[in-house]
Amino acid sequence: MALTAHLVMPQGHASDADLDAMTEALRTQFKIQHATLQIELGTTQHACALA
Ligand SMILES: [Zn+2]
Repeated sequence: MALTAHLVMPQGHASDADLDAMTEALRTQFKIQHATLQIELGTTQHACALA
């Protein structure tokens, strides 16, 4: 299973270690083998096409 998610993080981009922890949690808790996480600061009027 794969997952794509947009994460709005106004304080700034997550570190590589944070991304590792998130993808590890998705894999172990939700059996999502491949997660793609897009970080956004939320500073623009961004409308996700699939929302
Ligand atoms: Zn988005």
